[in-house]
Amino acid sequence: MMTNGNVAEIFGSKVFNLATMKERLPKATYKSLLKTISDGTKLDERVAEVVANAMKDWAIENGCTHYTHWFQPMTGFTAEKHDSFIAPTADNNVIMEFSGKELVMGEPDASSFPSGGLRATFEARGYTAWDPTSFAFIKDNSLYIPTSFLSYTGEVLDKKTPLLRSVEAINKEAKRVLKFFGKEPARVTSYVGPEQEYFLVDKELRNQRKDLVLTGRTLFGAMPPKGQEMDDHYFGQIKERVSKFMKEVDEELWKLGVYVKTKHNEVAPSQHEIAPIFSTTNISTDHNQLTMEILKKVADHHGFYCLLHEKPYEGINGSGKHNNWSIGTSDGELLFKPGSKPLENVQFLLFLAAVIKAVDKYADILRVSVATAGNDHRLGANEAPPAIVSVYLGDQLAQVVDELKTGKHEDSTAGEFLETGVEALPILKKDATDRNRTSPFAFTGNRFEFRMPGSAQSIAGINIVLNTIVADTLGECADELEGCEDVKAKALEIAINIFKNHDRVIFNGNGYSDEWVEEAERRGLHNLKTTPEAMPLFKSELSLALFEKHGVFSRTETSTRTDIMMEDYDKSLNIEALTMLDMARQEILPACLKYSKFVIENVIDKRAIGIEPKKETELANKLNDLTEDLIIRIQELESVVSKTPDLNVDPFACGKYYVDTVIPVMNSLRKTADKLETIVAKDYWPFPTYTDLLYHV
Ligand code: ADP
Ligand code: MG
Repeated sequence: MMTNGNVAEIFGSKVFNLATMKERLPKATYKSLLKTISDGTKLDERVAEVVANAMKDWAIENGCTHYTHWFQPMTGFTAEKHDSFIAPTADNNVIMEFSGKELVMGEPDASSFPSGGLRATFEARGYTAWDPTSFAFIKDNSLYIPTSFLSYTGEVLDKKTPLLRSVEAINKEAKRVLKFFGKEPARVTSYVGPEQEYFLVDKELRNQRKDLVLTGRTLFGAMPPKGQEMDDHYFGQIKERVSKFMKEVDEELWKLGVYVKTKHNEVAPSQHEIAPIFSTTNISTDHNQLTMEILKKVADHHGFYCLLHEKPYEGINGSGKHNNWSIGTSDGELLFKPGSKPLENVQFLLFLAAVIKAVDKYADILRVSVATAGNDHRLGANEAPPAIVSVYLGDQLAQVVDELKTGKHEDSTAGEFLETGVEALPILKKDATDRNRTSPFAFTGNRFEFRMPGSAQSIAGINIVLNTIVADTLGECADELEGCEDVKAKALEIAINIFKNHDRVIFNGNGYSDEWVEEAERRGLHNLKTTPEAMPLFKSELSLALFEKHGVFSRTETSTRTDIMMEDYDKSLNIEALTMLDMARQEILPACLKYSKFVIENVIDKRAIGIEPKKETELANKLNDLTEDLIIRIQELESVVSKTPDLNVDPFACGKYYVDTVIPVMNSLRKTADKLETIVAKDYWPFPTYTDLLYHV
């Protein structure tokens, strides 16, 4: 554990990063590997052999006995299977070995990962392939090698491979556009800085709640007397126990080379946020998976449990993951940077237009990228952007776009804006004070902040979509520019046309208001409130063609992935419904019966000595009514759950059934149980309440 506060000393100490590579690899090997990392060129077999050996030596010196190919199956979690470095020798001893082949390729038994039928169990072979663009690292005495995961026949079975493909798509199409502006960078890549929200809860208390253990959220629970109405937690002083936890999280992540930068309390009691400095989408995705894992692991050391679920508590703020996304060149140019004169910065305007077009044209696909059972509780609720996808530009950029649309370039307010003159100041300054927290997709100076993602999601899927849809519209811009004489004039024309044709998706007002819901409907924007409503659109012709065109997913891959996402929703809901039934039948109902008995016995005792306890009798009656109601609701839920369509036959019908039929019954069961919670004595209530969970941190 670090004591002297010297971050530089520990940063990346557990990562086989460039510095370590440079120190440990022969010059030629290092150079060749570097080329693979920066340009994506194929890696030579002999190079892999040398790298493997150096990695092994480094890992063993750092206490490792095993290595693992670390991959990201479609579950959204990471997976690992550990092999030791040992190899037997003739004299019954062992030596530690690690070959280039073992580094480059692995073959985990893949039969139990979701593939949507891409890989039948009888041909369970799945292969992992080393991803040299994300560094290997050490955790728990194992060398972790980031890998892609593919089937025997080459179909992708993971989230990393398509992410890398989508990065290639952005690289290709953005470079085509830049060429018209006389720029030929070696690479264009996308960057992400994900802000991760989470809740801490006392571990012992959490373990007493079946719902938290099995589903990650509370399925019952009356509102505590104090919620978040005082706004006293947001950016508030961090409690000592939490602070110690955060310190260890920072240190563990720094050792793993994660640029953790920001931490603070969030809006709800016991809710917090952690954010790194942005890096390439691929590394950022790996690092976000590690961050979620370390949060959970370190929480345990401090007697906490870390809840990553989007909505652990009804009526209290949920957790999201703001995905700050941009693209930039290997020469260090950020392509969404407006500069001091955005109105004249045609290249910027074109890139901006491409994003606006992408978000409008592929709004449904973006919506699906954040559609999960957990996130359904959040989108549209008070603290999160609504399920309607729109873009916020900020007042000044909105004005630039308006002027271009109307042709009134000479407008006086524009002059005011341009005269400020200082590089990047006008936009940035204004944005710093003028934040629209209600927009799902906000321009924030040099990047877009996509605010819809849920806290528990892998950010891979989201960025696969972002990269691909923007690659697509950039490609269309490049097609239009092909063969034109005056690039600047043509590019401006393309941008203006996009601003005119896609302005329905631009919205700078309050995204939480009811007026916006109506206005959006008038504009023809979709409001897909639930996952089952949104999900089928990922299989639409628009979507199938998009991913196929850019080599991100084959049609089959898109289609099977949609099924997997839908099944995931169905399974989550099924577990929630069954957990509710369990808790209601085995814990809540017996508690209510016991407490009723206590009240009734009191009434009887009092009557026996001639006292007539009117109010207690009323209480006994009320308890009786509510308990009866509880039993009715339990039976109702049992009945509707038993009629759920088979998800293996039609996961979409199953999902729709949950939304239309099961969830309303779950809600009414909860309502009755929560009422009972408020009148049953605390000693009788079978599990910790919201007050316990939210305030004993
Ligand atoms: P906020 O005030 O919205 O919380 P922060 O300054 O905390 O914003 O930054 C949020 C995230 O945005 C950080 O991870 C930061 O590194 C990231 N970020 C900053 N610039 C870019 C960029 N150009 N591309 C992608 N992410 C970026
Ligand atoms: Mg932040």
